[in-house]
Amino acid sequence: MDAYSPDTVLAHLARGLVETERMTQAPGTTGLPYPPSLHIGWNRLSRLMLRQGLPIPPSLPALLDLCEQPLPWPGLELGEGAWLPGDRLLASRRVTEACIEIAQTAGDLEQEEQLMKRVLDHCRLRGPELQPSYERFRTFLIERPVLRNIELLDATREPELRPLVDFLKEAYESVPPSCLRDGKVYVCKHCGWTVTWHGGEPRCGWQQCPGDRDPRSAVPVAHPSEQLLRLREGLYRYVTVPGLVEQEFLRQVQRLGVKVDLYPDFDSWDFRLHLGGGETWAIDLKDWARPFWLARELRTTRKHRHAQDTRAIIVIPDRRVKECPGYLNVLQNCVEEEQGLEYRSTSKLLAEVRERVGG
Ligand SMILES: [Zn+2]
Repeated sequence: MDAYSPDTVLAHLARGLVETERMTQAPGTTGLPYPPSLHIGWNRLSRLMLRQGLPIPPSLPALLDLCEQPLPWPGLELGEGAWLPGDRLLASRRVTEACIEIAQTAGDLEQEEQLMKRVLDHCRLRGPELQPSYERFRTFLIERPVLRNIELLDATREPELRPLVDFLKEAYESVPPSCLRDGKVYVCKHCGWTVTWHGGEPRCGWQQCPGDRDPRSAVPVAHPSEQLLRLREGLYRYVTVPGLVEQEFLRQVQRLGVKVDLYPDFDSWDFRLHLGGGETWAIDLKDWARPFWLARELRTTRKHRHAQDTRAIIVIPDRRVKECPGYLNVLQNCVEEEQGLEYRSTSKLLAEVRERVGG
C-alpha cells in the first residue's frame, strides 16, 4: 500500500490526533509536545499536498483548523463510503467518532491494543487449553469496565483467569482525577465506564454512547475513588464498546436455540454458530459507520473464510446500513472475492438463522 495514498495519509493523521488527545486530554493550539504519530501524519499530508501543488498547513494550529473542516478535503481523493455527511476529524478540538474509526485503520497498534495482541499470542502459544481463559478474559473486560481493587484481586484467583493474571492487572488503571466530581467517581449506566465532567455535562469515552452528555445517565459509585480501578481507555474503546453490540447479538441468536462458540480460534471470529449437521457459520460483528474503512481493514488483514466453516459472514448493525445506503455493496465491491466473505445486516442474518433452524 502506498504510504502517501490519501486513505493511508488520513488514517495516520487521525491516529496522530487520537494519540494527541490521549496525551493531553484536549489538543489545544499549544499542543506541544505532541506524539510522533501526529508528526508522521502531518508530514505525509504535507507531502501529498505538495505533490499536487496545494498549500500545506504551516503550523500546528493551521493543521488542527484543517482537521475541523468537513471531509473530503480538496486534494484528498477518497472512495465511496469513506465519509458520512458532515464528517470531520475534530469538532471544537475534540476528536470525533469519524476520527477514531479512521485511526483504527492506521495499522500501528496503540499500546492497549497491543495488550490484547500479547494476550492472544500468549494463549496461542500455550495452545487450545487456554481458549476458555481467553474467552473469560475478554468477557471480563466487557462486563467490568470499572471495579474495586478487591474485586480485581478476587478475579485473579479464578482458575480460568489465573493464566492471564499479569495481563489482567495491566488492563486496569487508577481512576484519574478528571473523573471526580464532588470527590466522587461517576460511571455511565449505558457503557459502564467512567465519565469526565465538562461543566455540568458528563462525557463518555465513546461519543455515540446513549449516555454521552446526559446528566441522568451518570451514576455516582458508592466506593471511594482510591478503591476504584477502570479499564484503560484503549481497551474500553476496542473491547468494551464493540462487546456491548456483540452481547446483544449473542442474546438474540441464543434465543433461537443455536449453539454458539465465543471468540473461536482465539478470536479469529466473534462467534461460530453451530446449525446442526456439521454446518457452521463464522460471524464477525463490525459496528463501523463507514464501509470504505471497514473494507480497507478486511482487505489489509486478509480476513477470509476458513475451510472448516460453511460460511463466513461479516454482520453490520441495522442502523449502520440504514445510515449509509449502499453499505453492503461497498463491502462486496471493495473486498477481494477470494476472501470468501459474505455481508449481512443483523436482521437479515437473524432471519437466515431462523429459517435455517426452522424457528
Ligand atoms: Zn456511556
